Amino acid sequence: MKQNYHAITLDKRDIGETDRLYTFYTYEVGLMRVPARAVRKGKAKLASQIEDFVLSHITIVQNYGRGILAGAVAENYFVALHKNYEALKCVDIVRGVLLTTIGENDCDKNIFALFVQYLTQLDEIAQKQEDTEQQSKMQWITNSFLIKLFALQGYTFNIVKCCTCSGAICETRNGFSAQRGGILCENCFKSEEYLSYIDPDTLKALRIIQSNRLQSLSKVTVHNNVQVQLGRIIVDIERWVMR
Ligand SMILES: [Zn+2]
Repeated sequence: MKQNYHAITLDKRDIGETDRLYTFYTYEVGLMRVPARAVRKGKAKLASQIEDFVLSHITIVQNYGRGILAGAVAENYFVALHKNYEALKCVDIVRGVLLTTIGENDCDKNIFALFVQYLTQLDEIAQKQEDTEQQSKMQWITNSFLIKLFALQGYTFNIVKCCTCSGAICETRNGFSAQRGGILCENCFKSEEYLSYIDPDTLKALRIIQSNRLQSLSKVTVHNNVQVQLGRIIVDIERWVMR
């Protein structure tokens, strides 16, 4: 029995002499691990179609139990992304989060669409001139993608009021705690152990991410301090998701 899937290659591992075990994120069934026979032999064309972070159509042949990868045709190689060191660093972070937070056969078509959109945008940014602004934009899109990914997984956070006392958010400095459910005012965060401080600009960035589609976010520019604070928030959420 043959079955086709839309897939993005997340990871691969050599097994035996010439085989490989691939991990795909698919539109149809979510995360899927499947072996490919003789894929490392000589001129195996199959391997080039399913390099890491390539969008492809794959065919699985099911005999007994687990299927075997029988064919693949790349739909988008995201060439510029693959040639850009900063872009590869970004997708490597994303790979880590996806592999740790998504279980096998946990299917979500919105996550797949968001992931394709993210790779497309990163590839577009990678086509432009390499400079610090390009790097910053890639990090911003990556941080935005991750916060949207967590939201699709059901991890949304209150960024309107203090999530402990329901009081107003301070104008100068607040805290963020995934465990508490979002923003904490200055009074409440004093006693918190795991907490990231956030400046008003970071709070603004979180609101922009929450209320805009990923496509529109490429136009937004944020400064380095915001990126650093968003990075800490993401680590905090990831730790909370994996608890
Ligand atoms: Zn409070």
